[in-house]
Amino acid sequence: MEGIKNSDRAALVRAITLIESFRPEDSSVKNQLLKLLPKKDKPSLRLGITGAPGVGKSTLIEKLGLRFLNQGLKVAILSIDPSSQVHQGSILGDKSRMLELSRNPNAFVRPSPSGAALGGVGMYTRQAILVCEAYGFEIIIIETVGIGQSEIAVFDLTDLSLLLIQPGAGDELQAIKKGVMEWADLFVITKADGKTEPLAAKSFQELLSLKPSGHESDPETRKFIFKTSAETGSGMGDLTEEIITRWEALRGSKDLESLRGMRNSLYFYKEWPQVLRDKLKSDRAVQAKIAEIGKLISEAGLAPEDGFNLLISFIFARSKGSS
Ligand code: GDP
Repeated sequence: MEGIKNSDRAALVRAITLIESFRPEDSSVKNQLLKLLPKKDKPSLRLGITGAPGVGKSTLIEKLGLRFLNQGLKVAILSIDPSSQVHQGSILGDKSRMLELSRNPNAFVRPSPSGAALGGVGMYTRQAILVCEAYGFEIIIIETVGIGQSEIAVFDLTDLSLLLIQPGAGDELQAIKKGVMEWADLFVITKADGKTEPLAAKSFQELLSLKPSGHESDPETRKFIFKTSAETGSGMGDLTEEIITRWEALRGSKDLESLRGMRNSLYFYKEWPQVLRDKLKSDRAVQAKIAEIGKLISEAGLAPEDGFNLLISFIFARSKGSS
């Protein structure tokens, strides 16, 4: 804990490694660590960045991160890749990413942890954000792949979210039409340079047309749809400025606390079934009971409905005993 207070990098890595552990025996030390984390006077910005694989997330984050560092801000990047839990590999984790940022002492880049159950991803992210904040990072970027349910749950943990869109990609635009527009705050068409520039311009127009009053000349519209090139830097200054402006407005108002409270509760509602499930799965007595009931169903003709009731009674009786 002293190490985190004194900004000792090894202590930060140890704390994050502990947070990444999903072993039941680590959970009480983990809870203790979270309770003891020092509070900062100024809240940090929790910035979510998502998009399909190959859209240009890591390239953009590297450039954006360097811009934040140039403004004297400390930046942490947490990459969250739910696919790495489902399949063995990770879409995010395999390549050397954000090299310049990784080498900077004021930046911290942490690839997706592996081995977590899908429902553990949100919990890990929340806890890792808290650790990075306590360590003194002012901007915490949470990078996720895709726009599926689990990524959206992770976005409940952020203050501001960016959706990156591949030039010419119809999928994201379709998803936006279906309501994703409600949760992303800023939309960024990537790779607006060279051969992909005309496609980027076309996607930009399409996106504008999804907003009823959307017009390129409307300053309000220009503030949430961006066209950038991480290669040439075009559009990157405007995007950085808009993120900082929004952040300053949010940080200076009472809205931040209520926004975080509201998002925390949304997160709670979405995640509790998975958390409960993981907890029961790690309980040996419950597992033994499940195996016993399964055997009764297959060998003694017990009806599955009765099996469920037996299991539920067992779980409730057990939790009464421990409360
Ligand atoms: P991620 O999978 O979303 O993290 O995408 P990457 O950042 O790894 O980028 C995927 C590919 O797109 C790489 O080959 C990058 O070099 C390329 N790329 C990323 N940003 C740009 C850009 O602004 N312009 C161009 N032309 N290519 C880019």
